[in-house]
Amino acid sequence: MKSKPRFAVIGIGRFGSAIASKLAIKEAEVIAIDISKDRIDSIKESVTYSVVLDSTDKNALLSQNINEMDAVVVAIGEDFQALLLTTFTLQEINVKRIIVRAQDEAQKKILNKMGIDEILSPEEAVSDTVSETLINPSVLLTIPLPDSYEIIEVKAPRGAVNRTLHDISLRQKYKLNLVTLLRKRGEHHHILGVPEATTVIEEDDLILIFGKTKDIDRFIDINE
Ligand code: ATP
Repeated sequence: MKSKPRFAVIGIGRFGSAIASKLAIKEAEVIAIDISKDRIDSIKESVTYSVVLDSTDKNALLSQNINEMDAVVVAIGEDFQALLLTTFTLQEINVKRIIVRAQDEAQKKILNKMGIDEILSPEEAVSDTVSETLINPSVLLTIPLPDSYEIIEVKAPRGAVNRTLHDISLRQKYKLNLVTLLRKRGEHHHILGVPEATTVIEEDDLILIFGKTKDIDRFIDINE
């Protein structure tokens, strides 16, 4: 049998604890690490193992075999110096895969220079979604991606309703891919599976589309 993947999450604030608990639900072996005993007390029931330690301390990390993890997520927020030192230490002990939280562009740049290419920005992701939703209320969710791409969930624009996907020709006309459709049944929307060219978009549908931000904006503008 394949062995369970093993992960460590360092920094058990709201973000770190959400990641650690989700990983544990997905049947991974998860070690939660924080300098604060209170934080560790709050997560210990939800993960495989939890430990109070200062993650800038190389020996403390080695004592927990952190170098043997499949991946380590550094979710420290406010204390950027602690985040940098922790990241540097993880590199020093040759952790295979290091994923680090950054709160702004400057922090991202520094982490990139250190050779970290997996960077999480919860604050930016939320602010992107909120600003997008305020400007365009039909947009319910935005997942920003590199190179000016994004995935958005949007209420089906009026111009697309009662038409087949073939007819709308998202790919040819707008360079967009429809990932899936969500259709209202009762109170909730449910995923319709992998859409086909003959699928007809209905009035209360939500659509999930992938493409360049400017192409998505154009599609919504034209069809609204
Ligand atoms: P969030 O923004 O995720 O809600 P927060 O604002 O509560 O988090 P942050 O300052 O962002 O707290 O830090 C996240 C966690 O990182 C905290 O629980 C803090 O104790 C922990 N932390 C900070 N420095 C270290 C360190 N050197 N070693 C281990 N954990 C640390």
